[in-house]
Amino acid sequence: MEFAGWSSTFRSSPFFCIVRSPQDRVFSARSACSAFNVVVFRSDTVILPILKYGDSVLLEPARRVEAITSDIERLIDDMIETMYAAPGVGLAAPQVGVPLRIFVVDPSMGRDPAALIAMVNPEFVSREGMQLEEEGCLSVPGFNATVVRPMHAVIKGLNRSGAEEVREGRELLARAFQHEMDHLDGRLFIDHLRGIKRDMILRRIRKLARAGKW
Ligand SMILES: [Zn+2]
Repeated sequence: MEFAGWSSTFRSSPFFCIVRSPQDRVFSARSACSAFNVVVFRSDTVILPILKYGDSVLLEPARRVEAITSDIERLIDDMIETMYAAPGVGLAAPQVGVPLRIFVVDPSMGRDPAALIAMVNPEFVSREGMQLEEEGCLSVPGFNATVVRPMHAVIKGLNRSGAEEVREGRELLARAFQHEMDHLDGRLFIDHLRGIKRDMILRRIRKLARAGKW
C-alpha cells in the first residue's frame, strides 16, 4: 500500500505492514494506517534474544515501570516484534533480559490486529474457574506440560500509551495472562509442575546444556 510520501512492506501476514514515513515517525504512521486495520511497526524494531531457563533474570520478580518513556515504548515495540518472530502467544520483559513489569500477548499470533495487548504494571482484578491445558514457553523451548490455570481472568494496567486499561480474558487469553504474570513474579510454567514431569524436563534441559545445545 502506498500513501503520499509513505512506503510500506507487507510481512508474512496481510494484517501486518511496516510503514516508513519520510521522517520515520511511527506515530503519524499509526494514524495513517489505522484506517486500513493493520498493525504498524516501527521501521527500526529489533528482534531481541530470548533468555532461556537457567538465566537468573527469569527467576527474579520484576520491578514496576515508573514512567512510560520513549525507551519503554521502544522496548514494547521490540517485544511485540520478538513475540511474532518467535512465534509466540506472549512475551514478558524479563524474557528479553529486562526486569520490568511489562508483557505483550496476542492469542491470534498476529492474525487479528485487535487481539494484540501490551500491559505495563499489570495487576489481577479477578481470576475465576479452572482450565487444564498443555502449555509451553519461549524460555523453555521444546517442552510442554499440562498446567492448571484460571478459566477467566481480568487484569488492569497501563497500555503502550500510558492509559489505564482493563482487559478480560477467557480460555487461552486467561492462560496467557496468568503465564505472563508469572514471568513478572519470577515464575515459569515448570514451577507449577510436580514430581516426575518436572524432574524429567529439568534433566533433559541439563543434558542439552551439557551438550551445548541450550
Ligand atoms: Zn513464558
